[in-house]
Amino acid sequence: MITNIEKYAMENHVPIMQKDGIEYLCNFILENRIKNILEIGTAIGYSAIKMALMDDNIHVTSIERDEERYRIACENILKMQLENRITLIYGDAMTTMVAGEFDLIFIDASKGHSIDFFNRYTPYLKRDGFVVTDNLSFHGLVEDERLAVTKNQKGLVKRIKRFIDFLDTNPEFTTEYVSVGDKISISRRK
Ligand code: SAH
Ligand code: MG
Repeated sequence: MITNIEKYAMENHVPIMQKDGIEYLCNFILENRIKNILEIGTAIGYSAIKMALMDDNIHVTSIERDEERYRIACENILKMQLENRITLIYGDAMTTMVAGEFDLIFIDASKGHSIDFFNRYTPYLKRDGFVVTDNLSFHGLVEDERLAVTKNQKGLVKRIKRFIDFLDTNPEFTTEYVSVGDKISISRRK
């Protein structure tokens, strides 16, 4: 079943987490006994399902703004019989509301808006919770800006760099970076 989701993602160019990245994140969830997760950017439910499968006590709330992907994610979660442990929200994470307190916020949505998501959702993070953000390398373009050719790519690289700077100078959070998948950051309160 999971392999079907991976296959669909590959064939339809859905940018799900790369294998080593999701594996790292899942181990991190186990090691830190994380139970309540908020995900920004569900796509078709791949990472939400992978995270939920780590432990029966894990609950994932995940937000997706693309209607078709949201619909496919709902189907995948039903097929996996995880509907009691994964709550999907259809909407734009820039404006949707969530309730509760989370041990982990996983930001994996539009690459240029991570600062907005970080600021909007960290009030819902537990004192000892973590914020993990994906795609800090943007396929290597962040490390080597010359690879960014289109205006769109250049703009995104600038915004990702601004996010990294935001993390590095954040008075409340301390951040480490892990080069798995497309590179992730792990932030926690000082
Ligand atoms: N976490 C998923 C992959 C997410 S891909 C996985 O690894 O399986 C990024 C998704 O974020 C896309 O489906 C896109 O539609 C969604 N997205 C982008 N901006 C968003 C926003 N502002 N609110 C909600 N979803 C958003
Ligand atoms: Mg990603």
